[in-house]
Amino acid sequence: MFTDLDGSLLDHDNYDYSPAIPTLQRLKRHNIPLILCTSKTRTEIIAMQQRLEIVQPAAVENGAAVIIPTGYFARRPSGAFIESGNWIKRFGKKREEILSKLKQLGHDFPGCFRSFTAMGVAGIAEDSGLSLEGAQFANSREYTEPLLWLDTDEKKQRFINQALRQGLRVHQGGRYLHLSGAGDKGEAMRWLVEEYSKANSAWSQVSIALGDAQNDVPMLDAANYSIVIRSASNPLPRLNRRHNTVISAEIGPVGWNFCLSHLLDELGVPA
Ligand SMILES: [Mg+2]
Repeated sequence: MFTDLDGSLLDHDNYDYSPAIPTLQRLKRHNIPLILCTSKTRTEIIAMQQRLEIVQPAAVENGAAVIIPTGYFARRPSGAFIESGNWIKRFGKKREEILSKLKQLGHDFPGCFRSFTAMGVAGIAEDSGLSLEGAQFANSREYTEPLLWLDTDEKKQRFINQALRQGLRVHQGGRYLHLSGAGDKGEAMRWLVEEYSKANSAWSQVSIALGDAQNDVPMLDAANYSIVIRSASNPLPRLNRRHNTVISAEIGPVGWNFCLSHLLDELGVPA
């Protein structure tokens, strides 16, 4: 099963996941893989997996890449390379490629934005309110570049159009504009389901996705069962499907726990 973190498994404000512990333990008891699919970086995800005490694949930076612990499947998936004890399948562009395209865009939009790279760790900490360590984690990006827009919305739209023509994808986050190459959470999920199926895993039969925001739609649309987690901070994402879909009554990890445990009951997973 595939889940978003912020606002889904984790509380939007304090990152608490304790309401979800009963169902997290049930997944562990029955060896159901818990696959984190988030906009966070590899460094941030590995820290989160250690907190959850799981050794599983995960999709990083909004699906720009999938990381799999080496040896998780009997064979290394085709197209995956090895780095720091993980197999990595990359869908997007490397950050350096994005930065070189951004440099060209900078000539046409001088002074209109500041990228994370231009801000540096201290600048990111100052702008975002993160600690220096948090800023360092957030800046440890491999496949995406966030930037702070400093000019008008009209100019921003022209910038976005030009970035799209250069083959970049642009996603407006809460504070920053995120530039990436290819890949989304849906693509990462489909690829992993295929790998489970090649490995003859029972888990290739049923996919479940949980998420709370628009960037979760590609995976919520593609899963066999989808659980939309209600959010206090953003409107419900608009899915292109209705079958096998529920919307939680409660927000964050409380809704996550309730809806997933109910679905596991329906699917006949023992308590
Ligand atoms: Mg979220």
